Amino acid sequence: MQKNLVMGNWKLNGNKNEIHTFLNDLNLIIQGYDKCEVSVAFPVMYLDYASQILSELKSNIKLGAQNADTHNQGAYTGDISPKMLKELNVQLVIIGHSERREYHSESNELIAQKFKALQEIGLTPVLCIGESEEQNENGETLSILAKQLDAVINLNGINSMQKAVIAYEPIWAIGTGKAATANQAQEIHNAIRNHLASYSKEVAENVIIQYGGSVKPENAEEFFKMNDINGALVGGASLKAESFAGIVKS
Ligand code: PGA
Repeated sequence: MQKNLVMGNWKLNGNKNEIHTFLNDLNLIIQGYDKCEVSVAFPVMYLDYASQILSELKSNIKLGAQNADTHNQGAYTGDISPKMLKELNVQLVIIGHSERREYHSESNELIAQKFKALQEIGLTPVLCIGESEEQNENGETLSILAKQLDAVINLNGINSMQKAVIAYEPIWAIGTGKAATANQAQEIHNAIRNHLASYSKEVAENVIIQYGGSVKPENAEEFFKMNDINGALVGGASLKAESFAGIVKS
């Protein structure tokens, strides 16, 4: 099993000043702490800046991005190239976040293509999956998650999951303050692992599955005690170094 991963997602927040302060503070607070991997995904226009700060600090914090497109160069106005992200020392790239699925109509198939493009260039996809409140209430959670996973597996093969991270984020828990309980999350994480095991037991046992949705320093430990929860993807609570470090140290 790889180390747990705690990853921050700044979404469309922050500026150079805030990123500078945040990285300096976070690096100091978690210095020498090696129980889990730590990454933060900043808005794309600040990645070069963040990359320079991390290299000056000689930090182990891994630089993340929040999205990528499927082409590396050419006539694709406004797209984000995986290859260019790599040049900025990005290591992990969030794809399939529910906000992109919803506001940019990203389909399971497109997300599978993004996954492929990232792996081809040697970047690690952080594949977000999750169900809406309505789907949850209708008992559709597991079938929705299976579809989201299968689109990626069908295109890339089950072994591709070995070099990826899965983030289970129930949409009803994102930014709402209404996190899943640790037991609820554990049950779903276990079901995700069982689904993967129907393709390959080995992959299922080793893949990192993060929980995301209203994770904060006060509830992180509960999640991390669970067998099938291997870290967290953190939105709101990742914007301040102290609260994010509190989650990392849980
Ligand atoms: P949240 O967001 O921690 O603010 O709920 C999580 C996410 O969207 O990844």
